[in-house]
Amino acid sequence: MSIGRDVSERKQPLPSNSDRLSSLLLEAIARTPGCTRSFLVDVSGQSRGTVSQRLDGMIDVGLVLEEIGTSTGGRPAGHLRLNNAAGVLLAADLGATHCSVAVTDLAASVLAARTYDLCIADGPHTILSGMDEVFRELLVEAGKSPSDVRAIGIGVPGPVEHSTGTVVRPPIMPGWDGYPVPAFFAQRYSAKTLVDNDVNLAALGEYWARAEGDSHVLFVKISTGIGCGIVSNGKLHRGEQGAAGDIGHIQVPGSEEAICSCGNTGCLEAVAGGDALARNLRELGVTEALTARDVRRLAADGNVYARREVREASTRIGKVLAAVVSFYNPTAIVIGGPFADLNDAFLAGIRSEIYQRVLPLATRTLRVESSRQHERAGILGAAVLALQFILSPQGAESLLKRPGIDSTRIGSES
Ligand SMILES: [Zn+2]
Repeated sequence: MSIGRDVSERKQPLPSNSDRLSSLLLEAIARTPGCTRSFLVDVSGQSRGTVSQRLDGMIDVGLVLEEIGTSTGGRPAGHLRLNNAAGVLLAADLGATHCSVAVTDLAASVLAARTYDLCIADGPHTILSGMDEVFRELLVEAGKSPSDVRAIGIGVPGPVEHSTGTVVRPPIMPGWDGYPVPAFFAQRYSAKTLVDNDVNLAALGEYWARAEGDSHVLFVKISTGIGCGIVSNGKLHRGEQGAAGDIGHIQVPGSEEAICSCGNTGCLEAVAGGDALARNLRELGVTEALTARDVRRLAADGNVYARREVREASTRIGKVLAAVVSFYNPTAIVIGGPFADLNDAFLAGIRSEIYQRVLPLATRTLRVESSRQHERAGILGAAVLALQFILSPQGAESLLKRPGIDSTRIGSES
């Protein structure tokens, strides 16, 4: 989720059809190992001649490489890929107590990475200076320099006005309210910086790591609170004000007595969030239950009260997700956070509510599963956010016109 109206995005000129086609082709090449010209003709719906014309331009400037494969007859199919030497991306997934940082190639594959501890309350200048130091060390490790950086993606644990990259009234980031993160990096790199909420980026990372065709993915993070990132047709859906996916404050029928931190009653977060479960356990005399992770540990250790709390929470989450599935018809729901891989009963509780309440057409191929990427989802999503910018009509055009890209060409056999 992010907060604020994307006014600046609307003021930009609309991309031309040719820019859109470049963007579509580049993203297909980045996501598809062994991508061929025929595949691009299929996914773009354009003629072979039109696709070839755009593609040849990208090959000429050294952005795309074509490697001729072997053939048992007829013309061999060339395999297309982005030229990794055409630049790198910087990605960071900032948490309250630690940060994961990576340098990736232009297909979001990690070249060098590190995770280190921090205290987010040290404030933006200290935290971002530390992050930049690690970026520079990782660039050296990857054999790259700051001038190779094409875009920077950063996830933060709070609401973000995406169009400006400004952190807005973050509850767990004291000193960050109104801080424009991109301005910090603009003084240090000649590349665009994109900032988003960590749950949105985890959704983007989970989407990217899945098979082609999984276009509509919801990532539901169940931790202290409950939030949801929405990927629609391969792009993050943030909504008009950036508040899309705020499922933690949807009211659960029959829970009206529970008071939520938002001031309303009966919110999902107030009856199924990790804080709520820990509070319920303390009221039952389980005094060591202070956080969501404590609840998870107690349930994993067989504490019957903790197991019951988690089971009931899964049913309540399932009720809300059933409504979400009816409304949105996703390809997959990915559950993240400490409870995601607790036991089969947790996922089963969510699934059974969805299957009971939603019409079969929406559930026939729906998959509800725990995160495959775990802690990696956020950093992958940050790299993909940067990648999607440089592959966007606006970004692709500037990349194609970038002076000196020819010098990075490492040779094409086409
Ligand atoms: Zn609420």
